[in-house]
Amino acid sequence: MKAWRRQQVEDIAFITLLDFRRQTGRPLRAPVDVDLVGEIVCGLLWDWDELPEPPRTKVLAGLFPDQGRVVMNEKHAEEFRRKPGLERFTKAHEVGHWLLHVDHNNLQQNPQILIEADAHQPSFWSQQEARTSLQIDWRERHADWFAAALLMPANLFIAVAEEFDLREWKSLYALARRFDVTISALCVRLEQLGLAAVDANGRIHVTASQRHS
Ligand SMILES: [Zn+2]
Repeated sequence: MKAWRRQQVEDIAFITLLDFRRQTGRPLRAPVDVDLVGEIVCGLLWDWDELPEPPRTKVLAGLFPDQGRVVMNEKHAEEFRRKPGLERFTKAHEVGHWLLHVDHNNLQQNPQILIEADAHQPSFWSQQEARTSLQIDWRERHADWFAAALLMPANLFIAVAEEFDLREWKSLYALARRFDVTISALCVRLEQLGLAAVDANGRIHVTASQRHS
């Protein structure tokens, strides 16, 4: 397995967005249209269907590399409706697997990739029992980094976030709506970029200079 570094993953996500911009002529702005990015840049098909779930495992989506197809699990359609941003993050995560982990020269040999629970939980790849859980965790981490970088590209995200008072939960929710991501994905991104961190008690610590302060 290739050991992607965070910055490499950020770069690949940004190159993907630049490709999208070049191919569509659309400016880079929030919220990023992950459906179109997947279709136009990666040639992926989005689909909804019922996916089987191993015991005690929740599968939100599956990537079928040989078909260039991502299937969103219809069983959880209600949860996707209830949690704005979850569908988009899940799709961006699958685009990440497609670009980072799929061997495009050998598509027929690729395993089916599945993700479980939400994108911040450890996930698994089916039909790959031999893989160690450590490798699997890293793949999932790569795909999560990618999803965050695709939906909240650093340069755009920081510029927009600076317009918000990051000390207020109300502002964080508004910022999450602007990028159409879940509040948890937003908080992870704020911390990754050194803008703000939320502690275990839900207190926000602003770590960058804030124009509102
Ligand atoms: Zn995954």
